[in-house]
Amino acid sequence: MTITDPTTTTTEGDSAAALAAARADLRGRLLADGVLIDLGSPGLYGRTGVFERVYAAVDAAAVRSQADLDAEVLRFPPVEPLAAFERTDYIASFPDLAASISGFTGDDRTHRALLAARERGERWETFLQPADLMLTPAVCHPVYGLVGDTVPEGGRTFDIVGDSFRREPSLDPMRLQAFHMHEFVHIGTPASAKTHRDGRIPGMRALLESFGLAIEVVPANDPFFGRVGQMLARNQVEQALKFEFVTPVYGPDHDATAISSANLHEDHFGTSFGLRTADGAVAHSACIAFGLERITIALFAAHGTDPDRWTSDVRAALAL
Ligand code: ATP
Ligand code: ZN
Ligand code: MG
Repeated sequence: MTITDPTTTTTEGDSAAALAAARADLRGRLLADGVLIDLGSPGLYGRTGVFERVYAAVDAAAVRSQADLDAEVLRFPPVEPLAAFERTDYIASFPDLAASISGFTGDDRTHRALLAARERGERWETFLQPADLMLTPAVCHPVYGLVGDTVPEGGRTFDIVGDSFRREPSLDPMRLQAFHMHEFVHIGTPASAKTHRDGRIPGMRALLESFGLAIEVVPANDPFFGRVGQMLARNQVEQALKFEFVTPVYGPDHDATAISSANLHEDHFGTSFGLRTADGAVAHSACIAFGLERITIALFAAHGTDPDRWTSDVRAALAL
């Protein structure tokens, strides 16, 4: 398999090589020190006790930091119905990251053909049929179909954590195919959505800094697919729709990595899901997302793989 990594396509070959080496070094350390377990597919890892200990502490600290939102807790499975996925329009923006579930629906004969192909060492998944299920790429997706047509005065705010799958195999331990984000999602008026996005940024930054991480908040430039995607990306930057909390995991010479984000969707989901506010206008939405594995791995990269040796400040911030 060819592994493409959009962030390494740079004209400075030396810099790209140095970045690849830095990524391989961190990945090697996490595996050698027993933090992650290589599952044999890029961006897919098993996790050990030390990883889980830090990961759970990160998630708990994120939740504590947003307690004042009094958000409604919702949890979803790692797959979503195709119909719900459709309405998010994700396939228009990120077809290269999307992934669907397939199942076997054939008869005995087809099963024999499958087994024969398998016997010959050929790919047998082509015998499976697409099911009407997609792997969830962003954990807030299922909520928009659940809130009903009208959002009450003051809007609604949700606490959602779950699995995300994105088909972006990489040897960068910060870029996984299967990961988790903890999102705090608000659906309300244009003003309340913007207040949610903007109002949470300083606290998120302070929280991540309290973990001993160097943080910059920068406008995001998502890799929307294709030529139309370039327009969407320009629009995202020009309208300052999304901000990322980035930290220089691989040192000052390389682009910093996003470990969290704060995203204003404007009327995107309100329009697709037919959501309105009490005054009859299309609802707006915004979400803030903590990338739980990325924060955890950034901590191991910055402070070493033994949390018992982290400074007391960092351990206190994480209640470790
Ligand atoms: P990137 O620009 O690095 O691809 P993103 O803009 O696609 O990140 P979001 O869609 O904003 O990320 O997702 C919210 C958070 O989820 C990110 O800030 C990041 O911490 C985390 N995240 C995104 N993609 C991955 C991934 N492939 N592996 C691990 N964590 C991820
Ligand atoms: Zn979201
Ligand atoms: Mg991405």
